[in-house]
Amino acid sequence: MKSLWSDGEFRNLKGVGVVVYASRLIGENPNLVLWGGGNSSMKINGVDHTGKKVRVLWIKGSGSDMRTITDKQFCPLRLDELLPLFNREDMSDDEMVAYQTKCSLEPSAPKASIETLLHAFIPASHVYHTHADAICALTDTVNGSKLVQRVFGERLIVIPYYRPGFKLSKKVGEALRENPEIEGLILDKHGLITWGDEAKKAYLKTIEFNTIAENYIYPRIKKRKPFGGPVLKPLNSKTPPYGRQKEIASILSMIRGEVSPNKRMVLLYNESPSVLEFVNSKQGPKLSQIGPFTPDHLMHVKPKPLFLDAGAALVGDHKALKGKIRNSFEKYRREYEDYFNQYKSPDVTMLDPNPRVILIPGIGMVTTGKDARAASIARDLYLHTIEVIKMASALDQYSFLSKREICDFEYWPMENYKLTLLPPEKEFSRQVVLVTGGSRGIGKSICEFFLREGAHVVMTDIDLARLEQAQKEFKNEIVSGQLAVVKMDVTRPKSVEEAYVACLMKYGGLDIVVSNAGYAKSCPVDQLELTDWEKSFQVNATGHFLVSKRAVQIFKEQGIGGNLIFISTKNVLAPGKDFGAYSASKAAEAQLARILAIETGEYGIRVNMVNPDGVFLDSGLWNKEVRSERAKAHGISLNQVEDFYAKRNILKTKVLPEDVSRAVLFLASARSAKTTGSIIPVDGGVKEAFPR
Ligand code: ZN
Repeated sequence: MKSLWSDGEFRNLKGVGVVVYASRLIGENPNLVLWGGGNSSMKINGVDHTGKKVRVLWIKGSGSDMRTITDKQFCPLRLDELLPLFNREDMSDDEMVAYQTKCSLEPSAPKASIETLLHAFIPASHVYHTHADAICALTDTVNGSKLVQRVFGERLIVIPYYRPGFKLSKKVGEALRENPEIEGLILDKHGLITWGDEAKKAYLKTIEFNTIAENYIYPRIKKRKPFGGPVLKPLNSKTPPYGRQKEIASILSMIRGEVSPNKRMVLLYNESPSVLEFVNSKQGPKLSQIGPFTPDHLMHVKPKPLFLDAGAALVGDHKALKGKIRNSFEKYRREYEDYFNQYKSPDVTMLDPNPRVILIPGIGMVTTGKDARAASIARDLYLHTIEVIKMASALDQYSFLSKREICDFEYWPMENYKLTLLPPEKEFSRQVVLVTGGSRGIGKSICEFFLREGAHVVMTDIDLARLEQAQKEFKNEIVSGQLAVVKMDVTRPKSVEEAYVACLMKYGGLDIVVSNAGYAKSCPVDQLELTDWEKSFQVNATGHFLVSKRAVQIFKEQGIGGNLIFISTKNVLAPGKDFGAYSASKAAEAQLARILAIETGEYGIRVNMVNPDGVFLDSGLWNKEVRSERAKAHGISLNQVEDFYAKRNILKTKVLPEDVSRAVLFLASARSAKTTGSIIPVDGGVKEAFPR
């Protein structure tokens, strides 16, 4: 393992900056800690608010991530008030947390780590605790303690497993008093602790112990067939990549239906070589059920993944496949419920019984989460779990905590507290939205509104360059992983199909489709070219048909409802002269929407329309040609067009893209849960176009 330490960078650091620097270096290496794992501390002399000298323990705040940690995420505690606790026999978590809070020198600091006392009871000035892969690979075996001794001799000792808290801290303190010469500690089935009187020394100890463990493990991996060797080749050996994607997309939407009965989940698919090696192996199914490699991961990946044998996908029998997926998930949920009932402590409520990690032979891994970020945390943690299982299996037999210990940790209030530190969920944060014609005007504004409200947005358009431009402009609205841009020509079935497959491959499902792409041509009927008539119907009628047809198929496959919103037009209800091709084709769209509302209601799918009028800003529809043609039709000059449309409505107002977006978000939300087949006009009020 490589040291990232730089004396140059370190030289000018002072105070808490020292532990921030070392923590970030540790966080930088995913083989040491991942996503909020591990913790760090520093003991220095300081002053309190009265100017009195105090010894300060700077300890990582609960729930913060070492990779990105800042000084504000550390908590300064009065060390001399913590140390006498070592003489106590026991202390409950609540008592300990309350005591720690009273020792704080900074009332606005975050809650101190639950492992604070462990750091306090180690005399050295700098203490780092990691969930290092190679170290856990040694302890997560049947003969872990022996292995540690063989690898490290007398330099390190193993503390038996205890859930973090007072008892573990006291055991660590006692071990050091009994063995003052040891250089580090290993927490069984949990991780490593190193220390030093200088930050660099403590950090380099972490690197050194990991290097020793890796040097012991890696040559042994080479000698063995990983996971007992393969029993299956990956599915794609003969299937063309796109066909494979289509099959996988289908499986993903079925899985999403299973894991989203109450609250929707976002799915991430992974087919990296290490995942395929694991899921296709002889021992993968059994090994995966033993548990993650450190208890801290339980919150994100649950006690075990669902190992789903979905081989029927190969023959394309979707009905059989769906049945198989349903049965596997039901079995998993039943087993989870049994586990919970057997090991739960009193007064706890069962968490979601669905898996967060789904392993599928021949296909890969699917992880789930309340949003793309949460699903990516589960993915990263499990990728490392696979590596640790591989390492441990090369040494001995992989093993983890007992089911009782797992349940005790999974339902530990102190661990679940971390989840309450996350920002509150936004209205659409669990939802996947696909918008057509998304690169400009109304479509672009709709994407922006959905992004702001936390949705995962698949922004589609025929114009890829413009899509990429819009993506750049959205940078403030986008959280990592929240937006995908996909080229889609709504008039071509293959292009529509490919865009939906891309959407499913990216997020595993679909909740809302805003069918927005449109085309306008203004011309009296007797002069209208057939090609203009046909193009209007291709985009405004066939386009909506193709987009909604595939959406409904996916909604049915998921089986958790869905939401279709059509951007129609005031012209459907109140047509204007010279707008025959546009009005007639948009009338087909409106009628299609109504039929869909009737046909799909029984599946929990809602279909509604928004009728805008004269939305000019950034519009592709209202290009110069259409503006001139409409000016001609209304007998006005070109620069009077926008005012003409504003003045002819009841409210005498200009209609903007954002006005349409607000109506779309209302129809997409649970606030309109009892509404389908409706029209919301966003036209400033045009009495001829009142829906009736
Ligand atoms: Zn830990």
